[in-house]
Amino acid sequence: MSNIIFGPIRSRRFGTSLGIDLSPSSKQCNYDCVYCELAPATTVDHQSTVLPVATIITEIQKALAAHPDIDVLTLTANGEPTLYPHLEALVDAINAIKGEIRTLILSNGSTIADPAVQQALSKIDTVKLSLDCATPRCFKRIDRMHEGIDIETIQSDMLAFKEHYRGTLIIEVLIVKGINDRAQEIEALSTFLEQLRPARIDLGTIDRPPAYKVEPVTYETLYTLAQHFNPNLPVHITHRKHGTPTPASYDNEAILTTLAKRPLTQEDIDLLFDSSSQKRLQKLLDEQRVIIRNTHGVDFFTVSHENH
Ligand code: SF4
Repeated sequence: MSNIIFGPIRSRRFGTSLGIDLSPSSKQCNYDCVYCELAPATTVDHQSTVLPVATIITEIQKALAAHPDIDVLTLTANGEPTLYPHLEALVDAINAIKGEIRTLILSNGSTIADPAVQQALSKIDTVKLSLDCATPRCFKRIDRMHEGIDIETIQSDMLAFKEHYRGTLIIEVLIVKGINDRAQEIEALSTFLEQLRPARIDLGTIDRPPAYKVEPVTYETLYTLAQHFNPNLPVHITHRKHGTPTPASYDNEAILTTLAKRPLTQEDIDLLFDSSSQKRLQKLLDEQRVIIRNTHGVDFFTVSHENH
């Protein structure tokens, strides 16, 4: 059953990660997202092929023996990992053997109403939930969910979960051209996320061949959409594949105004600022009018509050 474990995968944000696939033999998901990198499949609300907890733990132990430098164990699936019926027992067993290694789960967020799922997630260090739309029509078009799942319930249960969750909650928003790339959709998401206050919002687009005939947006569109979120929300643009560098000249005032509206990462700056503007930015950093703030693994350039 070696297909349960994949990696190690190195990422700047999470360090060296081993993936744990809770549905290695087939896609078992309660969504049929247009952008899914797996083939389209009929949605399900439970797993019919279920791995024993002991099998998964044995595979994790073997993988950890082979890779002693792992920073994080990532629970994922060909489908939705929270459909795994023994999730809490599995998380307890992982926590008993993992030592200092952190845990992360990548979920579509749909099962957050289930108290058993909330209980399991509350024992995981970082929970990353997807939320592509805040309005019902948009949600249905992009995530093509199983019967009985609705976006209002998901949102209120995300809020209830956040009330007691002590770990790091990250929200992932994936933008699909022509579906959720309108300013109104982003503003609806922003309104909800202002209440939720996640540690970080990762804003990306399609970067692998999708299940259906849909297209990514460009980096420039993501950057424009990021401006429609409340500036207090830590939005991180994760996608640069389709980004064409369009370096422009920013004077000191433009740099400070831009960063006050939207903190930027080094990658954003490389795409947006020409070399003299980058020198001006460095000077502002030296003068501490701009500071670098790390938000759960991502460095953002932002204005020092002393500027206000
Ligand atoms: S939730 Fe994930 S696995 Fe399920 S259809 Fe969407 S992208 Fe695919």
